[in-house]
Amino acid sequence: MHKITEELSTLKQRSRSWQKNHRKDLVRIGQMKELTEMCQTGHQQIFSKMSCLDCANCCKTTGPLFTSRDISRISKHLNLSYQQFFEKYLKRDEDDDMVLQTVPCPFLAENNECKIYDHRPKACREYPHTDTFNQNKIFQLTLKNAEICPAVFQILQTIKANVESR
Ligand code: SF4
Ligand code: SF4
Repeated sequence: MHKITEELSTLKQRSRSWQKNHRKDLVRIGQMKELTEMCQTGHQQIFSKMSCLDCANCCKTTGPLFTSRDISRISKHLNLSYQQFFEKYLKRDEDDDMVLQTVPCPFLAENNECKIYDHRPKACREYPHTDTFNQNKIFQLTLKNAEICPAVFQILQTIKANVESR
């Protein structure tokens, strides 16, 4: 098995247990005013060393939410009507959001490339959100994403180590 696949198979469990062991520190980090800056720096450092093409765990295990604008753009690219695209790939979830019918995402190629990369949903472009503003507001989401995304887990570990070494 490829190394990253081995790591991914235990990521959820490792991340949950790490978060449980450091709950108090993480609550404090989630409230720090420098959190956005720390996340953005960590994001740049980690993604300069790793490629999403070696991973694709987000595309394999959780799909994005689709906006109407996403559906219009992607269906046009695929020569489908809005309704045809929806019926073929999407459903409404319990929150009434438009999500994929199945994961792994049907647009994920075997080499981990996205078959609709230039047209992909906004949520895919923005994932895992660690380089956006107002990280305090989305910190709970970031903790959840650390169970899916190895980069987010590493970013959190780096932030914690940096805070401790001050
Ligand atoms: S965003 Fe995270 S989970 Fe998705 S492919 Fe990149 S490293 Fe993997
Ligand atoms: S649309 Fe592309 S980037 Fe988004 S989940 Fe599917 S394969 Fe991944």
